[in-house]
Amino acid sequence: MKIRRVYNSWIPKLLKVNAITLYPFILFTRSVDGIKKYRKDPEQLFKHEYIHIEQVRRLGWFKFYFSYLVENSKTGYRNNKYEIEAYNRQTEPFNEEEEAAFNKDFGL
Ligand SMILES: [Zn+2]
Repeated sequence: MKIRRVYNSWIPKLLKVNAITLYPFILFTRSVDGIKKYRKDPEQLFKHEYIHIEQVRRLGWFKFYFSYLVENSKTGYRNNKYEIEAYNRQTEPFNEEEEAAFNKDFGL
């Protein structure tokens, strides 16, 4: 399924986050250029959210979001295993297969 990026969305604003993945949508608070932390490397934010897309595909929609929320309530955001995976992998370059999937999903 094609991934759609939505900018200036009220949902991440309300949750006070830069972006949120609600498969198949990635919602951003504003344009990625406007997100200070990621201004130097907006691709990292895309990658971070794309790793959540992969997690949804791995587990299925309901299982992922249920498990994510359970995990968040137990450990908090930064120790959530899904966030740890996303933060660890966002700085690593994708392998060829991941790059191809990323480009296809974003229509790049
Ligand atoms: Zn995340």
